[in-house]
Amino acid sequence: AQERYASLRDKPAEAKCGSVVRLEMNAGLIADLPSLVGSGAEGVGLFRTELQFLVRNQMPTRTELVDIYKRVLKAAGDKRVVFRTLDIGSDKVLPYMKPQDEPNPALGWRAIRVGLDKPGVLRMQLQALIRAADGGPLTVMFPFIAQYEEYTAARAELDKAIERERILGHVLPSEVKVGAMLETPSLGFAPEKFFEEVGFLSIGGNDLKQFFFAADRENERVRRRYDTLNVSFLSYLEMVVERCRATDTPLSFCGEDAGRPIEAVCFAAMGLRALSMRPASIGPVKHLLRRVNLDEAKAVIDEARTRGDMSVRGAMAEWLKTVK
Ligand code: PEP
Ligand code: MG
Repeated sequence: AQERYASLRDKPAEAKCGSVVRLEMNAGLIADLPSLVGSGAEGVGLFRTELQFLVRNQMPTRTELVDIYKRVLKAAGDKRVVFRTLDIGSDKVLPYMKPQDEPNPALGWRAIRVGLDKPGVLRMQLQALIRAADGGPLTVMFPFIAQYEEYTAARAELDKAIERERILGHVLPSEVKVGAMLETPSLGFAPEKFFEEVGFLSIGGNDLKQFFFAADRENERVRRRYDTLNVSFLSYLEMVVERCRATDTPLSFCGEDAGRPIEAVCFAAMGLRALSMRPASIGPVKHLLRRVNLDEAKAVIDEARTRGDMSVRGAMAEWLKTVK
């Protein structure tokens, strides 16, 4: 199988119907970057910057961050890297930060909420990213945006950081793309203006699923009750795809489920055209996507929904047996 996947490395994930799905990889450490070549990923769709903070026992300095981000961009070459700003809190606690005593950390002070309330670290990080871009393009994504105002506030921090760098005489990025992660169901219902203004959206399915079904992603007992291919979840994704299509907003999916071949086919059938996953998943996902017709997959999903199936997994598995 490894050889079969290797032979697909430079081929597109083009389905039988002609639709092409962009496959990118998730990363977080510099050591992940060599996989960019080996896996055939078209870029880094999610760079989890908190890993650099989690592997230390003190806060990294701005100089250290500039150096790390430069090395990441250098290793990626012409391929795009989507830097997600610090996503801490909940299950990711920095050893050198005062622990918060919260009854529900997953619903608590985390990710962009920390970044906006105590902007010191976010500002340092944005400044480091701008400097690391060194006159090249920069792509930044904010985690856990639950409402429009959080996006505009985070975006304003980035604009301020760019302005400061300009005044200081530093070279500015040639192009800046700014996106948000859709990890709470609320963002899918944000005002039209949000979809028009945001540069791109990436669905953080791990968190989105936990909040969609109100089932802790760390709690095996409850998390297994709700299938990703649950018809309600797929219908929600379909709505987000539609809203993005109407406003020409690029949309991707970067949660772990994107790397599961059957899930990937269903997401693509719902209209998603970019998936980001662990490097090792790219081969298997591409292999399956190239064998299916997404219009047929969509018909199977629609039939299952009409029938009232709880999940489309059974229908999908049956249909996939008929695919050559
Ligand atoms: C997600 O929630 O799906 C996601 C990609 O972010 P993380 O897993 O780092 O919370
Ligand atoms: Mg998340």
